[in-house]
Amino acid sequence: MQDTPFDHTHEDNPQENTPKTDSPKSDGFPGAPTDFLQHLREMLGSLGEVPFANIHQTAAEQRSQEERQAKQPNPLELIRQFSLKPREIRDYLDRYVISQTEAKKVLATAVCDHYNHVRRALEDENVLRRDYAKSNVLMIGPTGVGKTYLMRCIARLIGVPFVKADATKFSETGYVGYDVEDIVRDLVKVADGNAELAQFGIVYIDEIDKIASRAGEGQKDVSGRGVQVNLLKLLEESDVRLVAQNDMMGQMQAMMSMQRGANQPMVINTKFILFIVSGAFDKLDRIIKRRVSSSLIGFSGAPAEATTTEEALPPTTPDSELLRHVQTGDLVNYGFEPEFVGRFPVRVVLDHLGVPELEKILTTAENGIWEQYVETMAGYDIDLTAEPAALANIAEAAAREKTGARGLLTVLERIFRDYKFELPGTGIKALHLTAEMIRQPAAALQKLLDEYADSANQLAHAEVDAFAERFRQQSGFALRFTPKATSRLVKQAFAAGKTVRGYCEEQFKDFEYGLKLIHRDNPQEPFEMDEEQVVSPQATLTQWIKDSFPQA
Ligand code: ADP
Repeated sequence: MQDTPFDHTHEDNPQENTPKTDSPKSDGFPGAPTDFLQHLREMLGSLGEVPFANIHQTAAEQRSQEERQAKQPNPLELIRQFSLKPREIRDYLDRYVISQTEAKKVLATAVCDHYNHVRRALEDENVLRRDYAKSNVLMIGPTGVGKTYLMRCIARLIGVPFVKADATKFSETGYVGYDVEDIVRDLVKVADGNAELAQFGIVYIDEIDKIASRAGEGQKDVSGRGVQVNLLKLLEESDVRLVAQNDMMGQMQAMMSMQRGANQPMVINTKFILFIVSGAFDKLDRIIKRRVSSSLIGFSGAPAEATTTEEALPPTTPDSELLRHVQTGDLVNYGFEPEFVGRFPVRVVLDHLGVPELEKILTTAENGIWEQYVETMAGYDIDLTAEPAALANIAEAAAREKTGARGLLTVLERIFRDYKFELPGTGIKALHLTAEMIRQPAAALQKLLDEYADSANQLAHAEVDAFAERFRQQSGFALRFTPKATSRLVKQAFAAGKTVRGYCEEQFKDFEYGLKLIHRDNPQEPFEMDEEQVVSPQATLTQWIKDSFPQA
């Protein structure tokens, strides 16, 4: 996490068919329009012309901005032309996200519903005026199964800004901490200051279950209800000031830019922001089970909704299966305000990831976790491959972590930690991970290091020369080591458990100063060191200095 609670996920944008959102810095709309219709009209009017031209730019800046713009599709134009179909979004997600078939379907449809409505509302004022219940989504599922990843991929595909926040970081208005409105302001940052684009972004709030008010269960309600009420305002159409009232610096900047004549946008409207909330909802299954079983024995404790026959579940139903039967009443019993839950009509339960799924994440997911490791090793010029049995073992170990796909990262880190530390600089160019290496990591690493001892030794010798060359460049003095002195330095460095570079830099740290003393009037000539002299470079330097002074 960064210094704000928000995960600015829109910054990395690796997918090829991903429209980038770094559209021109927006001057936005003048003043602080209270009429959303008018604001949209202004925004649309500006789209066809030179959009958001900044009067303070130099001609060169403006030209380069226009060139950049010409190369990139305007993200607002892309939203206006939104034409993706749910199945197309699903196909895109299939490339990156393993399993979660139901979630992909539900999310793809909700997102299409939303952006179709946005497109139509932008085209037709009648549509805009009509009441519309947004397809905000509630995702239920354990950690690390792809909830955030799915939404991040979708946001990239459609080219809208995406921010993630943790519900536990929000405080009620008036308290110190992050206000729920900060997350909307953060959309603007992620959209590179483009307030128009921010109004079509996606806000993802994780750990929403932690703001359930649990007063009903013998626990104290810690501001959960207050945060729900604050969020409710955002979920409805509301105007959020771009600069928070307690942000003195921001207020001053806004005033200064107004004085300079810049038309900074003052508010962003949340009408078209799509909200996704998620959480693990521990113990929600118990509430559902209680409702379902009490309905089975004839006196229903179920609140408003009728109990369907499909809910007559056998007592052995797994938790995730039970969760699929969640009803609004269950969430209210869990501690949510009915109005709050009502704003999330789309609900989906994510699958638990088992060993086969984790293995597939390693082997088939595009831009996946394994690929990241291949890239990391490539950074050290090491070509990483693995035998299938090794990947299967990693998936098994990850499943035992019980943190979903995050377990893969934990296990991989454990396996590769020492390899990443020890192998660079040994001359090893390829690493083939085997099941045996996973079983006995320390022994396997040692074997590899032994195999490459000669090459590591050669490279270490070259490092002595490299040190001498760096020293010459920095100080102007030439240090030369005899072959035996070089070997001795390498041995000493290895014995001290150091790299040759680190060892030499430490041992010769006073040489630049010392050689300057010696060179007071001597001509520049190389300083050669033999084996004996490098045993203690400091002592050698002291002797040289003494010798260079005229004897009394
Ligand atoms: P959460 O469900 O807690 O939001 P994330 O979506 O952040 O978990 O998952 C963490 C990381 O694990 C992702 O960035 C992704 O690399 C990987 N991951 C998780 N689930 C999947 C999946 N189903 N398919 C492929 N990768 C996944």
